[in-house]
Amino acid sequence: MTQRIPPPTPHIVIVGAGFAGLACAQQLGGSDVAVTLIDRRNYHLFAPLLYQVATAVLSPGEIAEPIRRVLSRHQNITVLLGEVEGVDTNARQVRVDGRAIPYDELVLATGATHSYFGHPEWERFAPGLKTLEDARRIRTQVLMAFERAEMEADPTERERLMTIAVIGGGPTGVEMAGAVAELARLALVKDFRHINPAEARVVLLEAAPRILLAFPEDLAVYAERALKRLGVTIRTGTPVEDISEQGVTLKDGFLPASVKIWGAGVEASPVGRWLGIETDRAGRVRVNPDLSVPGLEHVYVLGDVSLLDGPNGRPLPGLAQVADQQGRYLGQALLARLKGRKAPGPFRYRSRGNLAVVGRNSAVIDFDGTHLRGFPAWVLWGIVHIYLLVGFQNRFLVVMRWLWAYLTSSRGARIIAEEVAEERVEQRDSTG
Ligand SMILES: Cc1cc2nc3c(=O)[nH]c(=O)nc-3n(C[C@H](O)[C@H](O)[C@H](O)COP(=O)(O)OP(=O)(O)OC[C@H]3O[C@@H](n4cnc5c(N)ncnc54)[C@H](O)[C@@H]3O)c2cc1C
Repeated sequence: MTQRIPPPTPHIVIVGAGFAGLACAQQLGGSDVAVTLIDRRNYHLFAPLLYQVATAVLSPGEIAEPIRRVLSRHQNITVLLGEVEGVDTNARQVRVDGRAIPYDELVLATGATHSYFGHPEWERFAPGLKTLEDARRIRTQVLMAFERAEMEADPTERERLMTIAVIGGGPTGVEMAGAVAELARLALVKDFRHINPAEARVVLLEAAPRILLAFPEDLAVYAERALKRLGVTIRTGTPVEDISEQGVTLKDGFLPASVKIWGAGVEASPVGRWLGIETDRAGRVRVNPDLSVPGLEHVYVLGDVSLLDGPNGRPLPGLAQVADQQGRYLGQALLARLKGRKAPGPFRYRSRGNLAVVGRNSAVIDFDGTHLRGFPAWVLWGIVHIYLLVGFQNRFLVVMRWLWAYLTSSRGARIIAEEVAEERVEQRDSTG
């Protein structure tokens, strides 16, 4: 009797354990395909709450979860910590830290980073908010600005130290501006003797005629009013021309500011270069409706690095909910295909609403034409974010922190630790 040789197990390599890659891996967990998930970090980051780390509401560990822990029960998934440097689609290999890892199917979900519109030198002075390191750096800069102002005798320099410029009036800029204003006016207000933190100036700069361009106008108007109530100065139609240590050059003058936060542009990770194919101006790879890459076999691109039109003919937005739905879809589609079952139809995005927070008890939500604002929107925003956080421990800690911050207006994560030394060195270097 001849022994039946089992077919070789297909090997799926997923690069990136963000919203898209992790959702895809979870769909494949427990199946009989071999999955390798590669990320350059050992944790999955919940980016929508980064601004709360940057403004000392939450600690970094509360919005991140080790990838191994999330996937530990799935014996068929191997997690590798490494930086992918390229892809050889002919040999079907991924290059990771100088090694080659073979694949049968490749899923690329490496997300996006900041774009400084051709001015990479601005990054030094105006960090963006994409990683935990960014959030810690911004938190240190904001807290250190008040510390320095407390010691500063010159009133002009004190005013500069207490001016925080947020560049970009999208959801990230709006959230940051509101949260920094609250930090100054509520959490720090009683703690200094020579300055009044409530007098800090938070200036939100936007090149377009209004903030929150992706939201309907009435919600943007509401957000603008709510920000002004918090003391934020909003300057629309004001493109930034230059950024330096001293402040921001605008078309109509110079804004002295010690802290500059970049929330204006994004650029996809270099997947287009790895694959040797064209991208759009933001570096995104156009994909077929099943998320495969035109002209390449066994390669899929999803999440922020992909470009796919939605039902309204416009590209799907760079949102966690798009990335998560694409990851789930692709995981199911790959399983069906590898098992010889009928693959699902094209990917269809179901919007669960567009949300932005404008302070500690106010938010705006657009559910495809139904608009919600104020406190009810904020409560719903909180519930959605708790639900989406990975890990029970994180959920519990975040709810406790929010309750504490809400009831006492205090911030639990104000310790400036190891970054102070780095900050001092940077300060010394920049002043020569
Ligand atoms: C401050 C901020 C607030 C946001 N708020 C919201 C919100 O309220 N609602 C919402 O829906 N969306 C929000 N977003 C957008 C959302 O976070 C993104 O759309 C989502 O993270 C995209 O998921 P992704 O899987 O494509 O990429 P990511 O989540 O960015 O994951 C990419 C992963 O790839 C890894 N990686 C990158 N390059 C490599 C490499 N070369 N080798 C190995 N690994 C690599 C990274 O380490 C990362 O883990 C926000 C984003 C930010 C930055």
